[in-house]
Amino acid sequence: MGTGYRRVLLKLSGEALMGSMGYGIDPEVVNSIASEVKEVVATGVQLAIVVGGGNIFRGMKAASAGMDRATADYIGMIATVMNAMTLQESLERIGVQTRLQTAIAMQEVAEPYIRRKAIRHLELGRVVIFGAGSGNPFFTTDTTAALRAAEIDAEVIFKATKVDGVYDCDPHTNSNAKRYKSLTYAHVLNNELRVMDSTAIALCKENNIPILVFDLNTRGNIHRAVMGESIGTIVGGSCEIS
Ligand code: UDP
Repeated sequence: MGTGYRRVLLKLSGEALMGSMGYGIDPEVVNSIASEVKEVVATGVQLAIVVGGGNIFRGMKAASAGMDRATADYIGMIATVMNAMTLQESLERIGVQTRLQTAIAMQEVAEPYIRRKAIRHLELGRVVIFGAGSGNPFFTTDTTAALRAAEIDAEVIFKATKVDGVYDCDPHTNSNAKRYKSLTYAHVLNNELRVMDSTAIALCKENNIPILVFDLNTRGNIHRAVMGESIGTIVGGSCEIS
């Protein structure tokens, strides 16, 4: 049991909002994430969230089908805003104060990304949601999470996923697969483990930001993670099997 974190960046993939549906947003899943976020913020931790868009549109996939990559990526970034607005609405409905900042200006629906303002919102206890990725094509929302975490001086990135950590091989196909308790950035990069894309990992390595990978589907996990409980896999330490 650790001492808990003060400022956290939570990365929610688009797929996390999709639940078991094949596409789009499952309102029940979003509401459940929102209620967990409410509990966590009530403890006083400052929380910023980067939202992905893979449940709606992925630039790379559209590009491989022939679309211009940069255009496809801009569409992907706009898709993340739909997710971000949905999450914002869900949080506000249960009384959580939020601000949505987008890296592509959409002043009718969101504030533009302004680093100092984002930090101020966090200090005032507001959940800051970052939409539209980094605003640049050829990047991902994982890389955005690493970038924003460094910018706002977050102590850790929470990468909430569908698995309960990082394994040495695929646990679905190999019953002897072992889960890591902790891992070095170098191990993740050298072995191409799918924690986050390599640009994101490199950015975290350079800025010494640990990444905690854990299962979002287990209720209460965001809270456990914030409290510093030993769940999932932490990238940024030494290599240890749990
Ligand atoms: N994207 C981008 N630049 C960014 C962030 C995202 O171009 O800084 C685009 C990219 O096309 C990506 C899409 O937005 O495929 C959706 O984001 P991502 O795939 O990272 O979402 P996730 O996998 O987390 O759902």
